[in-house]
Amino acid sequence: MSNGALENAARTIRNARCCFAFTGAGISVESGIPPFRGHQGIWSKYDPAKFEMNYFRRHPKESWELLIEIFYSRQVACRPNKAHMALAELEAAGRLVAVVTQNIDGLHQQAGNTNVLEYHGSTSRMQCMKCRRKFPTPIVRLDTLPPKCPDCGGVLKPDIVFFSEGVPDDVHRDATTLARQADAVIVVGTTGEIQPAGRIPWIAHHNGATVIEINTRESAYTYRATDIYLEGRAGRMLPMLAEAVLQTG
Ligand SMILES: [Zn+2]
Repeated sequence: MSNGALENAARTIRNARCCFAFTGAGISVESGIPPFRGHQGIWSKYDPAKFEMNYFRRHPKESWELLIEIFYSRQVACRPNKAHMALAELEAAGRLVAVVTQNIDGLHQQAGNTNVLEYHGSTSRMQCMKCRRKFPTPIVRLDTLPPKCPDCGGVLKPDIVFFSEGVPDDVHRDATTLARQADAVIVVGTTGEIQPAGRIPWIAHHNGATVIEINTRESAYTYRATDIYLEGRAGRMLPMLAEAVLQTG
């Protein structure tokens, strides 16, 4: 990568009226959260059919045991990394209006970003299957499974989007509106293959936004939507970019 590309990206962000980030699993890998795909990914070890809503309804206990093994036991120890912190710095400096994420780990909020649109929900909340109320995960006891709603006794599910479930309407609407208004988007750690979330950078691109991409390898966006491609790990590239933006900003 040339210094020119980094400077160009920094200048784009400095000059933008509305810049947001679009993130995927690649930003959280350095926090110790495994991606879903790839040979080290979650789907190489677990059967995706067990993440269907129907499976959860029929086997809530087994489903919860699996969810705890994959997500909850690990995430207690996971912390935001330098890439998350860089996005929080950009927001604090008024250079980033929102983060649209496909991740369910809550690390953007932990880093300090306040406007996070979660396309696939978050393990930091649970939702009652019966009364639909939501609760922060830490107040729910996981010693007997499945956990039950403190209000009505219904089964609680993590507030994440299972296969065969739609993405949250309000998140999709807000992210689409944002993508139409933005004049810059920073795509980080995602191949853009999961729909409808993966369309967000395309919507920004078609509405004239400059697309800055940070990935370890080329993606579906690179030659077709991306204007400035910065190849490398998110934990290395994003802090460099944030520094370049804030130095002369
Ligand atoms: Zn309930």
